[in-house]
Amino acid sequence: MTGGSSLTPEERRAELAEALAAVRARIAAACAAAGRDEGEITLIAVTKTFPASDVRLLAGLGLADVGENRDQEARPKAAECAGLPLTWHFVGRLQTNKARAVAGYADVVHSVDRPRLVTALSDAAVRAGRTLRCLVQVSLDDDPAEGRGGAAPGAVPEVAAAIAAAAGLELGGVMAVAPLGADPLPAFTRLAGVAEEMRRNHPGARIVSAGMSGDLEQAIACGATHLRVGTALLGGRRAIVR
Ligand SMILES: *Cc1c(COP(=O)(O)O)cnc(C)c1O
Repeated sequence: MTGGSSLTPEERRAELAEALAAVRARIAAACAAAGRDEGEITLIAVTKTFPASDVRLLAGLGLADVGENRDQEARPKAAECAGLPLTWHFVGRLQTNKARAVAGYADVVHSVDRPRLVTALSDAAVRAGRTLRCLVQVSLDDDPAEGRGGAAPGAVPEVAAAIAAAAGLELGGVMAVAPLGADPLPAFTRLAGVAEEMRRNHPGARIVSAGMSGDLEQAIACGATHLRVGTALLGGRRAIVR
């Protein structure tokens, strides 16, 4: 796929429908292999770098969950798509000074990894009169210098307790990105252990957000409930300048 910029809306719709069917087939096969019910899985389309028109097309195809990783891109896109029956997931690294903006449109924040961010999101959610479901992002990288955000597993209980106690926030569970270039299975197995431990103190925190285009099968095998899929649904992203 090309990203669709040269396609007519009808062609792009057909391309997305085909990709969605293929991803759903992968999910079905992985659930069958793991003895899990497909109904336990929420597919989030990560639409970063793709236009609001793609979000509309996906919504028309029955997709209910959308993910974005940068506030400056997500905010106008969510505004353009207001009125569609979508749950917005913020999955990227989040600076405290963006908490207020993100609390305006996000329903679920997957990348909560420090108490200061919990405080900022709580203040923002209360101010906006909204409830944000928050996941604790767990770092599965042993080398923090390689890290893509996330709390060390040992720091997860503290962040989880802060979310659970915060006004305007609801503790949803855990999220992780598998370390680059390594077998994702041990990482996702470790995440499952962190999730299980969290549920001992917070039984309602049942979300395990893991698995992307390249590793959704392994994530499903390890108990993921939410998959964050970009490339396999929307096509290759062009490099973006940060
Ligand atoms: C971009 C992104 C994804 C989707 O990755 P693909 O490999 O394109 O499926 C998932 N999670 C996060 C946090 C992302 O930033």
